Amino acid sequence: MSIEFKKIRSQVRLINPFKNHTLDEIPFEIRFDPLTGETGRVFDLPFKAEKPNVADIVERSKKIFCPFCPETLDKSTPEFPRDFIPEGRIRVGDAVLIPNIAPFEKYAGVAILSPEHFIPMEALDPEKMHDAFSASVLFLKKVSHFDPLVHFFSINWNYMPPAGSSIVHAHLQPNAGEVPTNEQRLQLEGCRKYKMETNRDFWSDYIEAEKQEGERYLAEIGPSFWSLNFVPFSFLPDVRCIFPKRRSLLDFEEDDILSFLNGLTKVLQFFVDENIYSFNVAIFSSKEEETHRVNARVCPRLLPRPIGNSDIAYPQMMYKEPFTVRPPEASCPRMKEFFSR
Ligand SMILES: [Zn+2]
Repeated sequence: MSIEFKKIRSQVRLINPFKNHTLDEIPFEIRFDPLTGETGRVFDLPFKAEKPNVADIVERSKKIFCPFCPETLDKSTPEFPRDFIPEGRIRVGDAVLIPNIAPFEKYAGVAILSPEHFIPMEALDPEKMHDAFSASVLFLKKVSHFDPLVHFFSINWNYMPPAGSSIVHAHLQPNAGEVPTNEQRLQLEGCRKYKMETNRDFWSDYIEAEKQEGERYLAEIGPSFWSLNFVPFSFLPDVRCIFPKRRSLLDFEEDDILSFLNGLTKVLQFFVDENIYSFNVAIFSSKEEETHRVNARVCPRLLPRPIGNSDIAYPQMMYKEPFTVRPPEASCPRMKEFFSR
């Protein structure tokens, strides 16, 4: 096994006014992602998120036109061309999937979870989320059938404005296209390189390595594996889910969706416990790539300080270098409690 959790330890020296103006050292780590080689900075600073005023955001959203509420949805949202989706929209249970009028990809959907304008994070359970995820997988399968040139598939979610969502009404964004995003490309290059150098499968080695280390390992739920990321993307540690037997979202079955939603619910319960009320999800997938596996990230999002500043600043924006104020290993024991409930 050749998985490497490489890090460089460093520290900043300064005279600290909070420690009686004495010489102090602030340690940090530069970590290297075992799959992509991308770096990120990991600090261990005392930070506790304050509970945001969610009710105020919801109230403000009710004063703005919502295209996803049932009384407006049919007349204010687009439909798919009939040669692609004969019904115009995809309906699964409570969910409706429509074209994204602000598309990010050649094929871009919006899967509205339910008629409810606002679903609090506490209420996001597998049942509430199921229909929209199921509709998204169905949409991607229809795209693949309709357009054989499309090779990259994903299901994405901005939940609430701190995560970038302009519409409070909960909705997923399944995408499919011919050209990989940077993250999709880096993942593919990473596992191809690993296979070439070791003649082994990155994902099974990675899962074994995380289980052996144990410091970030959370759980296995059915066909899914859960751990915290060695190099977080977000201000607070984020979570990885891997489907070691699934090469593509196009092969996803009911059991895969339910396992993912079970784990996601545990993560969200932990976030609520941490006063986090916003998050991003991405499920990454390609079409027929021997070395790649379906995997997902769940990133907590927040406005870190009372002034309401963004948790994305120059390091992520200008240098593509994430930083986190808490090591993932420090979040793991508490998050694990939620997974064992
Ligand atoms: Zn609404």
